[in-house]
Amino acid sequence: MGFSSVRVPAAIALAALGWLGVPPAVAADDRTAPPNVLLITVDTLRADHLGAYGYPVPTSPRIDELARGGVRCEAVMATAPETAPATASLLTGLYQPGHRVVENRASLPADVTTLAEHLRARGYTTAGFVGNELVGDGFGFAQGFDVFEIFGHDETLHSDANGAAMAEAWLREAPASPWHLWLHLMDPHGPYAADHEWETRTDYPEDWFGTDAPLPVGRGNIGLGSIPRYQFVEGRTRLSSYVRRYDGEINFTDGQIGRLLDVVRELGMGERTLIVVTADHGESLTERTEYLQHGWFVYQTTLHVPLVISWPGTLPAGRVVAQSMSGVDLTPTLLALVGDPVSGLEGTSVRDQLLTDGVVAADHVALAVGARTNHPFAVRKGRWKLVHTRGAGPPVPASRVMLRPFDVAERYELYDLATDPGETTNRLARDPAQAATLAARARGFRRALRMSGQRW
Ligand SMILES: [Zn+2]
Repeated sequence: MGFSSVRVPAAIALAALGWLGVPPAVAADDRTAPPNVLLITVDTLRADHLGAYGYPVPTSPRIDELARGGVRCEAVMATAPETAPATASLLTGLYQPGHRVVENRASLPADVTTLAEHLRARGYTTAGFVGNELVGDGFGFAQGFDVFEIFGHDETLHSDANGAAMAEAWLREAPASPWHLWLHLMDPHGPYAADHEWETRTDYPEDWFGTDAPLPVGRGNIGLGSIPRYQFVEGRTRLSSYVRRYDGEINFTDGQIGRLLDVVRELGMGERTLIVVTADHGESLTERTEYLQHGWFVYQTTLHVPLVISWPGTLPAGRVVAQSMSGVDLTPTLLALVGDPVSGLEGTSVRDQLLTDGVVAADHVALAVGARTNHPFAVRKGRWKLVHTRGAGPPVPASRVMLRPFDVAERYELYDLATDPGETTNRLARDPAQAATLAARARGFRRALRMSGQRW
């Protein structure tokens, strides 16, 4: 399966543009050279199922290792609980009104500049390998890549092995430095493949699955109050079965990430390579009536994503950035790290927080909007998060499913994530001023979406 090749001669681009005065032929030990950028996004990976984020079962030894050797951002919120809009934000530094990808199957417009385009313009050789067609070339996500390939999602096998193999082969072809490789892995996305070892492990904490009572099985794929059909495995109705499978998928994908970490090291590129692992969004595992699914709501289960950034010798090892961040902050941060800060993005670079103990601007706010039917909004500022659910309105064309009877009434919820990460206690009545401030930001976000031509 040859790589589709629209390769721009990187050496020519480098010679033409230069890199802050650094000549194109860069010695291996020249620490002023821009680093390679390996960006790994994992589909449907909630942060709290990784060891580095406190999960009690060893799902992610390789991501944990990366976090120990680099910086772990603790409080990152996706801009949407669904693939296309959330990934578009990661890759552009823009929210939905800016990149105009508001739901799956929307295309990233050609006039939006992506991370890969920024880097290629600076002389990077670029490649993208994605397991989800929603972020494939058919939807505009290949812009900026010299080489781009969809490896697909196999429902019975671990397809991320295919993606990692493509990435490894490309790296071993010795792409001209600096290079940028984006790998979008897919296995934690349902349906969860069976994995004997994880289905039978005995090291989960006692009572981890509560009563583990049988769950209802849905007739369709909505996943509200019942197991969606695409996730259902005959004879399996207990939450424990599905969580174990989900964890097994994470563990498999973690191994593929580890394989690439090993390749980078083996090729002697460790200290010249910035490695990022993050996710487009999380997964709700029956919380809030959302069963083995994502997309409907904007709670932490589907919005809290991991972000680990490693650059040995440049970024400190083992640092944890606690401040709240958004997926839109990724691209400006990476561009600042490689020495090419870009203005005009909605995200904020946290380069200084990665390198030192700087704090983010006081008004730094993270926004998110659901991608289906009633479009709930979430606004986070520091420890506070507001969720605005507008109630079930008329169905929108992209999803002709009504939320009734699950979510009819309009409501506001305010959570203190510092003391209540599970969003169990609505503090709206106790902190009305805080809620009003965040609600104003939610209204502004919706206005911006409307003005960008969306039906909100
Ligand atoms: Zn996704």
